[in-house]
Amino acid sequence: MRVPLIAGNWKMNTTVSEAIELVSEMRPLLDQIDDVEKVLYPPFISLAAVGELIRGSSIKLGAQNLYFEEKGAYTGEISPLMLADLCEFAIIGHSERRQYFNETGEIVNKKVQAALKVGLKPILCIGERLDENEAGRTEEIVAEQLRSSLAGVDYPRSLIIAYEPVWAIGTGKAATGKQANETIGFIRRKIAELYSDEIARDMRILYGGSVTVTNATEFMQQPEIDGALVGGASLKASEFVSIVQQTSQIKGRLSEES
Ligand code: PEP
Repeated sequence: MRVPLIAGNWKMNTTVSEAIELVSEMRPLLDQIDDVEKVLYPPFISLAAVGELIRGSSIKLGAQNLYFEEKGAYTGEISPLMLADLCEFAIIGHSERRQYFNETGEIVNKKVQAALKVGLKPILCIGERLDENEAGRTEEIVAEQLRSSLAGVDYPRSLIIAYEPVWAIGTGKAATGKQANETIGFIRRKIAELYSDEIARDMRILYGGSVTVTNATEFMQQPEIDGALVGGASLKASEFVSIVQQTSQIKGRLSEES
């Protein structure tokens, strides 16, 4: 049984004091839900403060990015070793990094390897652009992103994948539950080909792209979808908590039925 996971990617939002306020509002409510893994991704500069405030709770912490070198003359970068002291998870290959910071498959691959090496759990983001989707190339694109991101990674047990169609991120235009379920099913079959049926069965694959309180149920009802990577809606405590609550109720019901 895969434990559902809801990740809140705060992106480049919140000052340190706003981050403290947000997590203080979320903590008592999120902490009551224990059958869903909850991971917050504040900006780097708030990791320590947020980490202090969730200490002793069931809420976990992740970084939005990392550099692949362990240390050295890389001004402004943050290394996996530095992060491993502060948090458990890291988002890698988010489409905003691919688009605005020219992250290639090769860079994403180095980051995945660097994260795994220090015991950080990567959430690897993959997904097609609108033109690729319209040209019917979704499966080809996500298969290629998987292949390049995971080249040389021989034991991806702590890896989580987020299927995030680029056209759905921050646009308010989410995929349908059915579309996302189909592509995630395809990604799982590719993982089985790359690794094994067992690894594919156990790997958590999330959907991301304009998930809100109103469409969360539709995604969580899908058997292939193990949770969500939430951007905009993770910046409002009540909305993020409601998405986690819906996930708990729906996945709990589905597991009783099976
Ligand atoms: C994201 O940040 O990965 C994301 C899916 O953002 P949003 O929920 O705002 O579309």
